[in-house]
Amino acid sequence: MTALLYQTDSYLKEFDATLNGIDAEACAVSLDRTSFYPGGGGQPCDIGGLTIRDKTYPIERLQKRGEDLLHFLGRDESGYPRSGFDDSLLSVGLAVHGQINWERRYQLMRTHTAMHILCGVIWRDYSASVTGGDMEPLKGRMDFEFETLHGELVRVIEAAVNREIAAGREVRIKILPRQQAFAIPDLIRTKINLLPEGISQVRTVEIVGLDLQADGGTHVHNTSEVGLVHVVDYKSKGAINKRIYIEIT
Ligand SMILES: [Zn+2]
Repeated sequence: MTALLYQTDSYLKEFDATLNGIDAEACAVSLDRTSFYPGGGGQPCDIGGLTIRDKTYPIERLQKRGEDLLHFLGRDESGYPRSGFDDSLLSVGLAVHGQINWERRYQLMRTHTAMHILCGVIWRDYSASVTGGDMEPLKGRMDFEFETLHGELVRVIEAAVNREIAAGREVRIKILPRQQAFAIPDLIRTKINLLPEGISQVRTVEIVGLDLQADGGTHVHNTSEVGLVHVVDYKSKGAINKRIYIEIT
């Protein structure tokens, strides 16, 4: 089982861990703990490095396998391990050191929090719920159940988002028992009921006074860290579906 350190400390850039599984064919290892985000909820996975016996392997892909998180030790285009993977050098119980690419991760944290601020503002001001979204560092797009969207309205939304950022709202993470989370009315609108049956705990991300969602991603501690949000484009994706594109500086 891999403990997911980023769930409670998204600012952890480096960590020590123990190797607890090796998949030689996949050129991947699992660890007892990690701060690598595997990807999900629109947020791409972290990249970085994993040092095992003085050799640092690039990590560019991760995958959940049961309770474990597999870290793929980077390969080149021909499928050979880029950094000379030799599984005879690896054994369960080895101490390893991981380091995530912090510049990229922090940009993703700012972006992900910006997306939640946008959701919160659009729900509060227009009662429109979000239907999907995707992000990369400092860029994102979100779809809303919105009937009419026009240039003037987009500027109003952008200004409201930046006011919430400037307000310096605290971002709180909680891990709650399933029943307790399901009893929170605010979480119903973000489709918490779609969570798989087997999940006994729900992680929530609250932008205090603005937004509350069940969410597995990494976020900044305070909205003031986000920067400035620019709505750079918008599109109609159907009668009641509108897409908003943002960038962050
Ligand atoms: Zn999210």
